[in-house]
Amino acid sequence: MFEKILIANRGEIALRIHRACHEMGIKTVAIHSTADAEAMHVRLADESVCIGPPSPKLSYLNIPAIISAAEITDADAIHPGYGFLSENARFAEIVEAHNIAFIGPTPEHIRLMGDKIAAKTSMKELGVPVVPGYDGALEDIDKARAIAAEIGYPVLVKAAAGGGGRGMQVIPDAERLPELLSQARAEAMHAFGDDRMYMEKYLGQPRHIEVQVFGDGQGHAVHLGERDCSLQRRHQKVLEEAPSPALNAAQRADIGAKAARAVSDLNYRGAGTIEFLYEDGEFFFIEMNTRLQVEHPVTEAITGIDLVREQIRVASGAPLSFAQADVEFTGHAVECRINAENHRTFSPTPGRVTDYHPPGGLGVRVDSGLYDGYSVPPYYDSLIAKLVVHGRTRNECLMRLRRCLEEYVIGGISTTIPLHMALVDDQAFIDGAYDIHWLEQNLDRLV
Ligand code: ADP
Repeated sequence: MFEKILIANRGEIALRIHRACHEMGIKTVAIHSTADAEAMHVRLADESVCIGPPSPKLSYLNIPAIISAAEITDADAIHPGYGFLSENARFAEIVEAHNIAFIGPTPEHIRLMGDKIAAKTSMKELGVPVVPGYDGALEDIDKARAIAAEIGYPVLVKAAAGGGGRGMQVIPDAERLPELLSQARAEAMHAFGDDRMYMEKYLGQPRHIEVQVFGDGQGHAVHLGERDCSLQRRHQKVLEEAPSPALNAAQRADIGAKAARAVSDLNYRGAGTIEFLYEDGEFFFIEMNTRLQVEHPVTEAITGIDLVREQIRVASGAPLSFAQADVEFTGHAVECRINAENHRTFSPTPGRVTDYHPPGGLGVRVDSGLYDGYSVPPYYDSLIAKLVVHGRTRNECLMRLRRCLEEYVIGGISTTIPLHMALVDDQAFIDGAYDIHWLEQNLDRLV
């Protein structure tokens, strides 16, 4: 087993990884920018190295600085968390070239799934249902026109290198196609340096349901059930729950088995998430994320399995500590993403936290680096806390969640807690009757 792990991330996820390491008796190295010198994960880690100024390009994305930090501290593995370098195949290669273990999949798998056209083609070959569309690149406007006519409007054009909802454009009819396609292409070029685009049928009322998978890299793989992430704003998840209120046990077992089979056929190593859209009883693959997800704690809550611990075990060459038959789903869990944002305008609200009192009690987990007097820096993602609540039933979980939101005090800055409070009191949410568009359609009413 590893003796020392460098955590190549910040915020709540850096703390989350530190916790798993210390529970396994593994020492930790925190890296941080000058803006994060006072961060909780830096305080708790056994060692810390300042790797650069606030700008992510010069710190959390600075590969030479991170490798140097690992070499100086003699770390034998690097955990990339999510975001930043976690899905950068080149980074994984460089880490391995320095004889440091990368806690994640092989660079080949990261690269394959990072190209959404290649990912879709290989999933289709592995027997996973995909969104109807054309799985090649749209070379020119005539080709795009012909394919759109075949699929039927509205269609969605997406960037092959896409992520974070960027480079995606809904096209309502043939007339708007040239303008909207070139707009999306330009956005993709700007964001990813790659303007290859592909096209899918635009689904009108789907849910976003994703399956957590885990492979040992030797052909064994399991699934840990699904998460429903349909509550989104601008294609970004706001609240996630497991199990999905829309699925029954047979559907869960069926899509889970398909996902696990694909992962074992790929010889995939580590944690992964296969994302689907679900409409009228059918699943359609959209993408696979080759890393730990923000919302992984809801799966941990209903399975009792520590996903970061498993990631570390598998990266060290150990087998998975459980088989599919050992995975049992118990109760219901919800995660609220609490952002340092105005809950009406969603503009960021960095600044000093004057009072901090997180909720507690049975079935309550808060993943956050916040503390009294901490200053939320303006340079990074606005996620400052994840409130994860578990109950024996969905109703018990929602009652507990409501109580926790009432208790949670984050003074000095505005947060999205009021949005979550409105959500747990909303009848459509209580009924589980929402699709990926519901939140945006109901935002004005909620806040
Ligand atoms: P990204 O990697 O940029 O986040 P995804 O492919 O994961 O892109 O899609 C993000 C979100 O966009 C989905 O959760 C869903 O809300 C919406 N979306 C993606 N594909 C479709 C589609 N074919 N029809 C309707 N909505 C879609």
